[in-house]
Amino acid sequence: MRLLTDILKSKQLTFSLEVFPPKTEKGYLRLQETLGEMARLNPDFISCTYGAGGGNRERTLDIAAYIQTAHNIPAMAHLTCVGHSRTQIRAILDEIRSRNISNILALRGDLPAEGWDGAATRDGFRYSSELVAFIREYCGRDCSIGVAGFPEGHVEAKSREADALVLKEKVLAGADFVITQLFFNNSDYFDYVHRLRELGINKPIVPGILLIRDYQGMIRFCKQCGTAVSDEVHALFKPIADDPGKILKTGVEFAVRQCLDLIKNGAPGIHFYTLNKADQVAEVIKNLSAAPPSS
Ligand SMILES: Cc1cc2nc3c(=O)[nH]c(=O)nc-3n(C[C@H](O)[C@H](O)[C@H](O)COP(=O)(O)OP(=O)(O)OC[C@H]3O[C@@H](n4cnc5c(N)ncnc54)[C@H](O)[C@@H]3O)c2cc1C
Repeated sequence: MRLLTDILKSKQLTFSLEVFPPKTEKGYLRLQETLGEMARLNPDFISCTYGAGGGNRERTLDIAAYIQTAHNIPAMAHLTCVGHSRTQIRAILDEIRSRNISNILALRGDLPAEGWDGAATRDGFRYSSELVAFIREYCGRDCSIGVAGFPEGHVEAKSREADALVLKEKVLAGADFVITQLFFNNSDYFDYVHRLRELGINKPIVPGILLIRDYQGMIRFCKQCGTAVSDEVHALFKPIADDPGKILKTGVEFAVRQCLDLIKNGAPGIHFYTLNKADQVAEVIKNLSAAPPSS
């Protein structure tokens, strides 16, 4: 299937979607229906997370393969190295290749409560840059490798500057593009891109955009991943927190405004965190397509 490196090179602007593996069989069947709705939006690619939020790791490759075979849309499989040995990662990469999946988002993953010391002692990887280097060596140029970027700095990082240097390491190890953590202040993204360009990183940095559909859930998630919730977001969503219809509508309006500004200022694409729902992203894409190019 097409490499994301080529897609990102050939298009001025890409739209992509992220889903996660449901925990139950019923949820998996529902996701297949949702993927049908998503496919009608003609995204450039759809990615599927790996183990995030306790999701089912085994399903990631099933879902990625399904996206490609049922809808002929390039899929990107997320892969985390926490808890895996090199031998296991090699076996997963073999399976990825046998399923014709050419795009991988290489991540460390969140550390389990009991910690992870796989790097030296258990034939594992400490950081995602090590995983990137391993994938690049094992798969060569047959695959595109993306990595995670953190406009506000990763929660464990000492500073935004230190975190930008980590990103440089990932790129030097062989990463082709970056997908960012969600953020609400676009200036954080623009500053981040500037910081990375100053370090000589010229890879596409695709902003990740959350479609807000649950105020409390969003706050919990942001706390976990270190994303600041702006006063504007609180002011918009707190008063309507108990009105699902209004939240969906306001979530769409907020995302449209955020995306228009990102696009106007040169973002190479938008990656939507869909939470496995097609309704909001369909509205956002419709609104973005209808907007005049210069707006
Ligand atoms: C777009 C996106 C998709 C994601 N998808 C998933 C998913 O599918 N499944 C999942 O479990 N999680 C996912 N995550 C979350 C991610 O796994 C966590 O944020 C994790 O804590 C960090 O992963 P990383 O790949 O950035 O790690 P790393 O790049 O390894 O960084 C981890 C920490 O170590 C520091 N560090 C890295 N290298 C060095 C070094 N050489 N020396 C000192 N410090 C260093 C970094 O600054 C950072 O604080 C995703 C995040 C994003 C932004």
